[in-house]
Amino acid sequence: MRLAVFIERDGVLNKARVERQHQVSPVMLEEFRVCRAARPLLQRLKAAGFILIATTNQPALSHGHLSRRELDRMHDLLRRELPLDDILVCPHDESDDCPCRKPRPGLLSEAGFTWQLNLDRSFVISDKWQDAEAARQLGCTSVVIESPWLGSGHHDLVVTSLAAAVEKVLQLHATPNLVFA
Ligand SMILES: [Zn+2]
Repeated sequence: MRLAVFIERDGVLNKARVERQHQVSPVMLEEFRVCRAARPLLQRLKAAGFILIATTNQPALSHGHLSRRELDRMHDLLRRELPLDDILVCPHDESDDCPCRKPRPGLLSEAGFTWQLNLDRSFVISDKWQDAEAARQLGCTSVVIESPWLGSGHHDLVVTSLAAAVEKVLQLHATPNLVFA
């Protein structure tokens, strides 16, 4: 079975504006800015054998503020810039009560099937509590990057940057029995 690193998209792989203490996801290709610094970091994870999967909640799809076509254009760009194996999207709104809107773990469990993953030894990197909660439900290890969106729920490790998160993942992967501090 393979191992994956799930990575939250907005704020980690692409820049997201902040308005009234909320991240605002881009809805046009023109405002979509890939975090280029992520490229060599993701390449290190790939070299270690991980499947790299970006995940994202995009309720603007169900609201009609974001078109599928525009999202596809953004994700084509994201795939060109970063060595991602897959990009998984929840298009629903909270009121749709779907199984895939994070913190629900549907996107992760779907990927677990598709990619034949060992989720117990897979990782989640994010700057939001929702991803840490999805990770907890499926037994993935969560490495969260300090941000205003971490909440007070469970997460396994806190770091200050994507670079530090990647370092942690590689370290834990090399020594799986390491006890969390
Ligand atoms: Zn959904």
